[in-house]
Amino acid sequence: MPGLTPPPDTNGGVTYWCEMAWLPPGEVVECVSVRVEGARIAAVQPEVPPPPGAVRLAGLTLPGLANAHSHAFHRALRGHTQAERGTFWTWRSQMYGVAARLDPDDYLALARATFAEMSLAGVTCVGEFHYLHHGPGGVPYDDPNEMGHALIQAARDAGLRIALLDTCYLTGAIGHPLAGTQLRFGDGDAVRWAARVEALGRSQRAARDVVIGAAIHSVRAVPPEQMCVVAEFANRHAVPLHAHVSEQRAENHDCVQTYSATPVQLLHEHGALGPRSTAVHATHLSDVDIALLGGSTTHVCMCPTTERDLADGIGPARTLLDGGSPITLGSDSHAVIDLFEEARAVELDERLATRERGHFSAAGLLDAATSAGHASLGFPDAGLLVPGAWADLVSVRLDSVRTAGATKGTAAEAVVFAASAGDVHSVVSGGRRVVEEGRHVLGDVGALLRDATAELRR
Ligand SMILES: [Zn+2]
Repeated sequence: MPGLTPPPDTNGGVTYWCEMAWLPPGEVVECVSVRVEGARIAAVQPEVPPPPGAVRLAGLTLPGLANAHSHAFHRALRGHTQAERGTFWTWRSQMYGVAARLDPDDYLALARATFAEMSLAGVTCVGEFHYLHHGPGGVPYDDPNEMGHALIQAARDAGLRIALLDTCYLTGAIGHPLAGTQLRFGDGDAVRWAARVEALGRSQRAARDVVIGAAIHSVRAVPPEQMCVVAEFANRHAVPLHAHVSEQRAENHDCVQTYSATPVQLLHEHGALGPRSTAVHATHLSDVDIALLGGSTTHVCMCPTTERDLADGIGPARTLLDGGSPITLGSDSHAVIDLFEEARAVELDERLATRERGHFSAAGLLDAATSAGHASLGFPDAGLLVPGAWADLVSVRLDSVRTAGATKGTAAEAVVFAASAGDVHSVVSGGRRVVEEGRHVLGDVGALLRDATAELRR
């Protein structure tokens, strides 16, 4: 599928010239030329006039954003779960209703549209926490990785790299077998899970834009003796290992009752923490939990728009970062898809919780949205505008009604604290221009989303 990138110049590359760009170590610089060759940045030159033939990028150009935690099919629920009261658990039963209806073709269409929405929002890499593996009743498809292949195809079509975090999901709750829709999530045990994921990994070995990673759904869904197998798999292949952790107090309660350990302690005891690991949510933590996560430099993925939508609570982001855990961001259930909203919510939620301002700077929140997020997904060579990095350039308008008035000195703050996803006007992802003047290469993404979600309610 062709991108909108202009034809290469005579040297086989494309040069972009940014009015302003966000450059290491975290500053806004004017008049920046970025030379792209293939999928990589070849050169970055600050404070130069536009080179002849360069493509001009207005506003502030950022490195690509990483959406470190996604369940693509949850997008179908948007707007349909807000009319009634309820809890995380009542929301989950509605989510299972969508999961029950998806087949690989539906999922390809829905994920492609959802990933295109992400691309329009400046996301160049998604961490897809994938657990809808099998057909109804848990019967494997002819290719047991058919759903995973659909997600990889969807990401490629939409112009994103993907870390497919293939998720081990074995029990419905602690001590309870899978039931109903959950049967589609299960592989029986972690050894069989690993064999399936090995095959998926082999099929993608040559792909530079795909990482096949691992995930432990949660302490609810993976018994401790099976966690070791998943952790060992991730270690052996040196791939990311993600897990939902302490999103709900009930999960902590059940875990402590059964194992006399918190979810973080359980993951620690079974080898699942470390620099390639990510604890997703990490909302309800003890001081010991925070020390274990930080001491192992485990990433923590905050998903504030989902956590507030599901009434989860506010995680201790600043304390976690100070303790050694890099913070990343995810739109998770896709109540909205807007990484700027996720970023500022980390700071603004801390303000509400502490009644003090100034826990995170705009620069720190941009790190979470870019380099830290990419690193947590197994793409350490992305999320920075430097030579050799993946050529991801996300340009944000500074003349919209939300951002007008920004200056060089306040552009980063204006984007993080006031821009919306709709202010992203251009996206280059892995050297391919997938968004130009706010339009995606796939065309009318709203119509794609409408059609894909209507299909699930037919
Ligand atoms: Zn999640």
